Amino acid sequence: MGNPLRQRQTAAKFASSGQVIEISEEISSFDSLSEIVEADLAALDADKIPPAWRESIVRGELQFGFVAGGGNVPSMSGQVGVELDAVCQRCLEPFRQRIEIEPRLLLLKADEAVAEFDDYEVWELEEDTLRPLDVVEELLIMAMPFSAMHDNMADCKAFSAAIENVTEIRRPFAALGAQMKQVEKDSDV
Ligand SMILES: [Zn+2]
Repeated sequence: MGNPLRQRQTAAKFASSGQVIEISEEISSFDSLSEIVEADLAALDADKIPPAWRESIVRGELQFGFVAGGGNVPSMSGQVGVELDAVCQRCLEPFRQRIEIEPRLLLLKADEAVAEFDDYEVWELEEDTLRPLDVVEELLIMAMPFSAMHDNMADCKAFSAAIENVTEIRRPFAALGAQMKQVEKDSDV
């Protein structure tokens, strides 16, 4: 039967079988995502590019069903995460960036109207069928930050450089402050 992540079926078919999909896939299985990571890492000197970046594993679980009380509206929910190699836009060094998604989607065809359900977002299907891998890939890409940066300031080289700059900037102000005090004293007299 193959990996259901790669199966192309209607949303109703995934939903009616209550399909559960365990995901454990290298990012090389996700073409567009891999291209984005590769383009990002291309900013690095060749010797700094993490050699195993294609082997980052996308892990998680998806569950299909019909939304409760919603008649036959198919839904896909789950939790998926991956640690991607990326370039910090602040210090331009490689780092591992965690991307996580927790989709709760109503799978609808374009123009198909539906009452709103709490906590669900509408996912418009461009075709009658879908491939779960494609949806996961699109969600991961949408979850990527516009500019990737070290979460932890202590890991970021730009941060330690910034501290040095701040000290240098403060010095002339300190001198100015001393002068101002001097002026105040003078005018007191
Ligand atoms: Zn950084």
